[in-house]
Amino acid sequence: MKFSQLASYLQKLENTPKRLEITSILADLIEKLSADEIDKGIYLSLGYLAAEFETEKFNIAEKMMVRILAQAYGVTAAEVQKQYSKSGDLGTVAENLAKKNKKFDLSVNDVHEKLLEIAKIAGSGSQEKKTAASAKLLNQADALSAKYIVRITLSLVRLGFTELTVLDALVQTINGAKDKNLKKKLEDRYRIHPDIGLVAKKVKENGLKGLKNVNMEVGVPVHAQKAQRLESVGEVVEKMGEVWVEQKFDGTRVQLHMDRNKKVKASDSTQQEMFVEEIFGKKSTFLIKTFTRNLEETTHQFPDIVEAAGKQIKADSVILDGEAMGYNRETGEFLPFQETIQRKRKHEVAAFAQQIPLKYMVFDILYLNGKSLVDETLLKRKEILNAVIKGGEKGGGLIEIASHVQTSKAEEISKFWAKTLKDGFEGIMIKKVNSPYEAGARSFTWVKMKKTDKQILGDTVDCVILGYYHGRGARAKFGIGGFLVAIWDEKQNMFKTITKVGSGLKDEDWVKLRELADSISTKEKPKNADIAPKFNCDVWTRPKIVVEIAADELSKSTEHSAGYALRFPRLIKFRTDKSPTDTTTPEEIAQLYNAKFGR
Ligand code: ATP
Repeated sequence: MKFSQLASYLQKLENTPKRLEITSILADLIEKLSADEIDKGIYLSLGYLAAEFETEKFNIAEKMMVRILAQAYGVTAAEVQKQYSKSGDLGTVAENLAKKNKKFDLSVNDVHEKLLEIAKIAGSGSQEKKTAASAKLLNQADALSAKYIVRITLSLVRLGFTELTVLDALVQTINGAKDKNLKKKLEDRYRIHPDIGLVAKKVKENGLKGLKNVNMEVGVPVHAQKAQRLESVGEVVEKMGEVWVEQKFDGTRVQLHMDRNKKVKASDSTQQEMFVEEIFGKKSTFLIKTFTRNLEETTHQFPDIVEAAGKQIKADSVILDGEAMGYNRETGEFLPFQETIQRKRKHEVAAFAQQIPLKYMVFDILYLNGKSLVDETLLKRKEILNAVIKGGEKGGGLIEIASHVQTSKAEEISKFWAKTLKDGFEGIMIKKVNSPYEAGARSFTWVKMKKTDKQILGDTVDCVILGYYHGRGARAKFGIGGFLVAIWDEKQNMFKTITKVGSGLKDEDWVKLRELADSISTKEKPKNADIAPKFNCDVWTRPKIVVEIAADELSKSTEHSAGYALRFPRLIKFRTDKSPTDTTTPEEIAQLYNAKFGR
């Protein structure tokens, strides 16, 4: 397929907010793409270059794009800037400037290859090289192609659909009809190997049978299982039967991958860098990586976990699931999330690793020596885990196995619950003993109960910021006095507002938030967001910043599009580990509301 043809599909997708239409346009696109280009066509339409977890970043900022467009079209940077100020979108500027370019012969694969080359340029003089290569590509492109090439390069492609919509479209191409089972089969595979391009390619090549070739693989992050909420121990017993009760650690989720037979490749840059720097005076040549629940690689944050994995894991290859917690060396107590997460910046890792030692509390094993374990029961998986981690049960090592109590009795759960809260944990996790590991799911096989003494609302709510308001009074000096937040409604493909937040931040955090918001501000209201005019913000942002909000109450609302409003909301923390479509869901909000009335 020619790239210009793909560009016209992208335009069609951009012009409709309707989910069913989007799905059928995508299905048509999938039909037209050949098996050797379908993965690239899908990545590009989602705005990236490879499976989401391994995609290259362009590192091309708007300022640089202004220079690229000037060079490509032989105009001054001032002229490009002028047009940009008018339209607010560099894609549209490129489209205007490229109007005289009519024919564009490059195929989807050609453009993908060139974009990949551009993204990979690194080292000295890379800015100039990237500028020249991008200008050359744009110079050949017709107007519409130029628009989307610019948006892809700036990571600004937002056509209102996610990888899950692509799965819906794939279903349509398999049997032309909606079939719930078929979607589940595709989704199950995608959850254990989240490469939407690969799933599409295998289905294109071999129909449903092709899915057999989409398997769990060490080095490829698996979608993490998530937890449902229940408000009372009585409900737990009724709904779940025989369970394991574990402490809920307030750290950060870490999925660990290790394969003693896989060599570290040059492309495994974080691990290479880490060991080249020899932070711990050790070199490892086999693959060990860690990922967040959002599929982002975090290996550079945890050199100590990597080192312990090499020593404590008795297996050729594993994938483990657990929570990393900072702890106090003297008292042995765990530290809160905010302190554990401080290890984010690369250059600070070694210092923090000395100051804040870690425990990696492992609660599951998903893969062992070449075989997926997700279909085994929790009981069986824990048995395997105990055999795999040296000293895991007894503790002492950096990697420990989370302990549990097995029961089906309300009193025992309540006892564990009370003790856990007394010990300072944020709550308990309850898991069905005979359940498989459900990658990416939030079902009643895993349930969380959190302490509710401080806030009347049973749980905090994760939301995404849509924009902010200039402050009045004391806060006017920061230029920001509050912000509007929303939750993601997957079914309606829409962000729905739920409250305005004006407290919970220290002065310096207001300033930081404003700077962050300004760096992703947009001229127009965010797309795919249902916002009543009375909540219009002074500055709109792209929906990217995820925050955790606590509130005293949840009430029904006719003004907020979520249908509910959080009352007396305050910011608890920034959830950099979550993506914008990973907020609390409308169903969960309804559950929280119903729980209030004991329904
Ligand atoms: P929360 O804000 O309540 O942590 P969340 O939306 O981040 O919720 P959930 O999936 O709802 O995530 O809650 C489960 C999270 O709790 C996991 O992602 C994991 O990081 C953490 N966790 C802590 N202890 C455990 C445990 N023993 N078993 C499973 N998950 C645990």
